Amino acid sequence: MREFHSQTIIEPFRVRSVEPIRFTTLAQREAALIRAGYNPFLLHADEVLIDLLTDSGTGAMSSRQWAGMIASDESYAGATSFYKFEAAVQQITGYKHVIPTHQGRAAEHILFTTIAKPGDVIPNNTHFDTTRAHVEHSGAEARDLVIEEGHHPRLIHPFKGNMDIAALRQTITEVGRERIPAIMLTVTNNSGGGQPVSLANIRAVSELARANRIPFFLDACRYAENAWFIKTREPGYADKSPLEIAQEMFSYADGCTMSAKKDGMANIGGFLAVNDDSLAAQCRNLEILTEGFPTYGGMAGYDLEAIAQGLYEALDEHYLRYRIRSIAYLGEKLTAAGVPIVLPTGGHAVYLDAREMLPHIPPLQYPAWSLNNALYLLGGVRGVEIGSVMFGQQPDGSEHAAAMELVRLAFPRRVYTQSHVDYLAEVILEVYNQRGHLPGYRLVSQAPVLRHFTARLAPVGV
Ligand SMILES: *Cc1c(COP(=O)(O)O)cnc(C)c1O
Repeated sequence: MREFHSQTIIEPFRVRSVEPIRFTTLAQREAALIRAGYNPFLLHADEVLIDLLTDSGTGAMSSRQWAGMIASDESYAGATSFYKFEAAVQQITGYKHVIPTHQGRAAEHILFTTIAKPGDVIPNNTHFDTTRAHVEHSGAEARDLVIEEGHHPRLIHPFKGNMDIAALRQTITEVGRERIPAIMLTVTNNSGGGQPVSLANIRAVSELARANRIPFFLDACRYAENAWFIKTREPGYADKSPLEIAQEMFSYADGCTMSAKKDGMANIGGFLAVNDDSLAAQCRNLEILTEGFPTYGGMAGYDLEAIAQGLYEALDEHYLRYRIRSIAYLGEKLTAAGVPIVLPTGGHAVYLDAREMLPHIPPLQYPAWSLNNALYLLGGVRGVEIGSVMFGQQPDGSEHAAAMELVRLAFPRRVYTQSHVDYLAEVILEVYNQRGHLPGYRLVSQAPVLRHFTARLAPVGV
């Protein structure tokens, strides 16, 4: 017999524990959204049917992860669970010092508090919202230098998350290397559509950073998904394993920040990893102050176990093929029906282009916010706005429109099946058919930073 290669890429697992999802009526969802100040972050999760708010910490763990959690070592100092975690991070990243944190933003807090100050500039392809907030909290400027293609939602490019190397070089010349405490690359580029960064680009950033003696860090939350795109899109990498590719990615940088809630396949956790001894010592001092002793850093021993195992499961080829295919499958259905999305589909989410879909809503009436609320009202689906509510608020208190108005539908890892995705496509197509009736929104109240988490809004005219 010849080997058979199916067209259908199936979920590479079977389900052994199930959690019911909750159905609601339109009237119940309307009442819930009004109570939540028209902010889906403020909904109760049991009011949501398909929850695509984030892929952060929402994944299903494997039987091996649970087994590790039960066998964990909860010693305050020097737990075996920590050394397992440290060994996994060191094998994958190659970095010398592994500093556990309770999640990714804690690693950002420790890093930027230690290295950045007012007047400094941190270049990145695109800062994620918490990264930008921590850079700005330190008084430094967060500068986004993604390639031009990354600004055009429907332009096809294999590595739309790449850094604009010419713009980076110009920034170094203009700002001066002494005012750039670090260069960062976010892999994949979450706020720019989950788009990958090529190894050629990582290498080019690295060369520029090293020539100017500027430390270079990866925001590595989705390192495994990025490795898969390199394997399938970058010439010369088809026969390399995701682990080998990830190791090469990390080898060009001096350290990384990581949210283990993404490609750590865990429900909580993160780390900062660096090569520099004196930087590590400074960061550990701050860690003891804010996170805990350096062998647990804000996590339980069982969290360290879950991550030590999860970091490898994220690199499994069958898993990565299924994951990236699930996203592409929804993207293809939407594109075929004419729904504008960010193309090509990225690693962890489908991004709907609300500016294109809702030209009757001006950017400062938050078209992506409106689209996201419509998905909830119509189908019980919760995504997240990545637009002017998230990014429009400036550090000086003024407001201007974000570069793009997107709704991100992020897929929790190993949670939803193909029929959930089929349902999702139906809901989006129905909202698309009714798009002319969607209202703009106005802010009723907001916090001074990261306002999207807690803001209350109302439809314009209500
Ligand atoms: C999630 C995320 C972070 C922050 O991690 P948390 O665990 O949510 O604190 C930082 N950068 C990127 C790219 C992310 O996706």
